[in-house]
This record gives sequence, C-alpha cells and structure tokens, in this order.
Amino acid sequence: MSDCLFCKIVAKKIPSKIVRETPDWVAFRDIQPQAPTHILLVPRQHLATVNELDPATAATLIEGAQSVAKEEGLSSYRLVFNCGSEAGQSVWHVHLHLLGGRTMHWPPG
Ligand code: 5GP
Ligand code: ZN
Repeated sequence: MSDCLFCKIVAKKIPSKIVRETPDWVAFRDIQPQAPTHILLVPRQHLATVNELDPATAATLIEGAQSVAKEEGLSSYRLVFNCGSEAGQSVWHVHLHLLGGRTMHWPPG
C-alpha cells in the first residue's frame, strides 16, 4: 500500500534499523523503544490488523520472533500484537512487537 508507513519501511523507501529480513517478513528496531530491546516484525504483505492475519503468516512471524530473540541474546521477552486503536494500535500494517528486558506496563492503560 503506497501510503502505509510499514510498507515503505519494507520497501526501504524509509530508512530503519533492519535486524533481519526473510522473503516473508522484515524485523526492524522500534523508533521509540519501550524496552531495552524493542523490535517490530512485519509481514511484507500489507495486512491492516491481526484480524486479517492468516495462520501461516502468523506462524512465520512467531518463528521469526523466536529466532530474532535468540540472536539478540534474550532469555526473557514479550510478544505483543495491538489490534485496534483502543488497544494501542497506531500503524495500520500488522506488526508483532518483540520486547526484551523489563517493559513495566506497556501499552499503557
Ligand atoms: P502500535 O502502536 O501500532 O502497536 O506500534 C507501532 C510502533 O511503531 C510504535 O511502537 C512506534 O514507536 C513505531 N513506529 C512508528 N513510526 C515508526 C518509524 O517511522 N520507524 C520505526 N522504526 N518505528 C516506528
Ligand atoms: Zn502496509
């Protein structure tokens, strides 16, 4: 989608700190980290929310998070999908937050 921020990051039209990428997804560091390690995993395909996420794509994101967590040396981490604005979703391209280290209460509320 041409006006989607994360589609632009996936297409490298907007710079980001990419951690790893595969044919299915791109992992990059969150611009406003909420934990010592805060990485977003996004499917290359534009899907607005977790409601559009099919099981196969969801599985590749979870597998991706597992391997990125290992590469980052994380023994403890959280995986979060925010779905809908009241739950804290602000970018309408589905993304899995990988938060390593102490995160306290995030998202707020
Ligand atoms: P959400 O609130 O939708 O669950 O998560 C969106 C995340 O994207 C937020 O944690 C926010 O800091 C991050 N974000 C927003 N704009 C950018 C950007 O331009 N680059 C990167 N790397 N992260 C961004
Ligand atoms: Zn998109």
